[in-house]
Amino acid sequence: MKCDLAIIGAGPAGMTAAVYGARAGLSVKLVEMGAPGGQLVNTDWIENYPGFPEGLTGAELMIKFAMQAMNFSEVEYITSYVSGISRKGNELLLTTSGEEIEAKAIVVATGAMPKKLGVEGEQAFIGAGVSYCGTCDGAFFRDREVAVIGGGDTALEEAVFLTKFASKVTLIHRRDAFRGAKILQDRVRDNEKIEVLYSETLERILGDTNVEEVELKQVESGELHRMKVDGVFIFVGTSPNTEFLKNSDVELDERGQIKASTQLETSMPGVFVAGDARQTQLRQVSTAVGDAALATINASKYIEGL
Ligand code: NAP
Repeated sequence: MKCDLAIIGAGPAGMTAAVYGARAGLSVKLVEMGAPGGQLVNTDWIENYPGFPEGLTGAELMIKFAMQAMNFSEVEYITSYVSGISRKGNELLLTTSGEEIEAKAIVVATGAMPKKLGVEGEQAFIGAGVSYCGTCDGAFFRDREVAVIGGGDTALEEAVFLTKFASKVTLIHRRDAFRGAKILQDRVRDNEKIEVLYSETLERILGDTNVEEVELKQVESGELHRMKVDGVFIFVGTSPNTEFLKNSDVELDERGQIKASTQLETSMPGVFVAGDARQTQLRQVSTAVGDAALATINASKYIEGL
């Protein structure tokens, strides 16, 4: 399969890159291993993406992005897993779970996935009380008590979201101040179903077939105590989806994030990056979209120069 521009990942960045690539007159292959949307699909409510003053669900926004991208006949959606990229002369090759794809330029928009904590019981109880997605699993905890771990935007948003179902949400953060946005901190504080435990860490998740309790440590004293919960929701940041680049010429930092120039070109000529997979300070739908516009315009200039 041949194309001008291959886009890897169909989240907000990938779908925006498809729109910009098509409008630049490029033939575009949008390669995604599953359904479109990326992390957007697991986001309950979006109120900071401009143009939607009433807010909308992540799924609704994803459908709008996908419809806009697929309106262009230049864009072909391919369901395939990309396991590597390499160069053959002027062409870039994508090794996939299906047919090999040959492209003149690539925009990597593979995003990120929730990080694991690595504590005892976490892996064993995934699907049996441990979750990384309130929108997906919240309804299983109707009238139950859950713990939420983390202090960033995601943990605060999800703690509030989970109060729709849970009878009590205990938000556990390792420091005495949250990292997340002030408006989300206020919502947590004003929600009577949420109790906050500052300066505590999750040490172990315990139970028989399902989660029954957690062991927590008070950071200053080192003292351990246990708390009965039915579920544990972990939101301690994200890891970039860049495993497939490990053997390529695309340089990654120590956290696996893609390094890029201010023009969003990576260390591999012709390969650009947009969204949460790159080394960046802010990971929002709006930043992913802005990245994709810049990366794709530069990819099209790169193709012109070939
Ligand atoms: P994040 O901002 O990196 O926050 C991760 C949180 O987990 C921090 O509070 C951190 O604690 C804590 N943490 C990390 N490792 C831990 C560990 N080993 N044990 C205990 N706690 C740990 O991640 P995020 O909240 O998933 O957000 C990711 C990105 O998406 C951010 O850029 C965020 O702004 C963005 N986002 C935006 C929105 C929105 O705009 N509405 C919504 C969701 C996410 P410390 O604070 O002590 O480091």
